[in-house]
Amino acid sequence: MTKCVHGYNHYGLRDSLINKNMVDAYCPRCNEVETWDHVVKCTETINLRREFIEKLLLEMLKNKGTIDANEIMSFCEDILVYLENDQEAEYETNQQHVGMTELFRGYVVKNWIGVDMNCKKYRCLNKIIARECVLFYNKCWKQRNQIMHDPIKQKERMKRWYEKEKERGRNSNYGQVRLYVEKHNLDVERCNSDTIRRWIMNMKTIEKKVEKIPANDIRGYMIL
Ligand SMILES: [Zn+2]
Repeated sequence: MTKCVHGYNHYGLRDSLINKNMVDAYCPRCNEVETWDHVVKCTETINLRREFIEKLLLEMLKNKGTIDANEIMSFCEDILVYLENDQEAEYETNQQHVGMTELFRGYVVKNWIGVDMNCKKYRCLNKIIARECVLFYNKCWKQRNQIMHDPIKQKERMKRWYEKEKERGRNSNYGQVRLYVEKHNLDVERCNSDTIRRWIMNMKTIEKKVEKIPANDIRGYMIL
């Protein structure tokens, strides 16, 4: 869980940056680019999301103390708005200034509304928010990993990745890459994920090699 909080979990985009070209940066659930917050914003988390907001709201209302129920609703609404929107959205509470994503790392703004940033009255509810948000992230992460390691889904992802790379290779500026794609046609239905991965890695290796050759080098013209 600490890994998630610090952003060290191996979500797609991070993984693809670390293992340069070795893995793809796409979400195993919906095939969009997987950033840290996509893990909770993915459309596949809708059920988990509903469950999470319901529990959060109930817990907070149970422990609300002197806080007005409307304020609690506003906070929960902000979280929903964040989870359901891709772009900048309108928020009611100060959490947006700390960052909505930060919620899922356990950082909650001290004062929800107004300018006094040292307000203590939200302390009890903030603990609940931090706990529930971090737990929710972790749940989504586990769900994502389950799908990630499912052999059938893995094969599907590999096939999609192969098609994407093949298309890219076909339109490559380098003759060597185009030739590779032309000569090595995979029967993706029959071969396993490892074979597909190897095909992609081979293409990337060729690509890297030709990229190193300066454009005016005679070797660049050989297969063109
Ligand atoms: Zn997704």
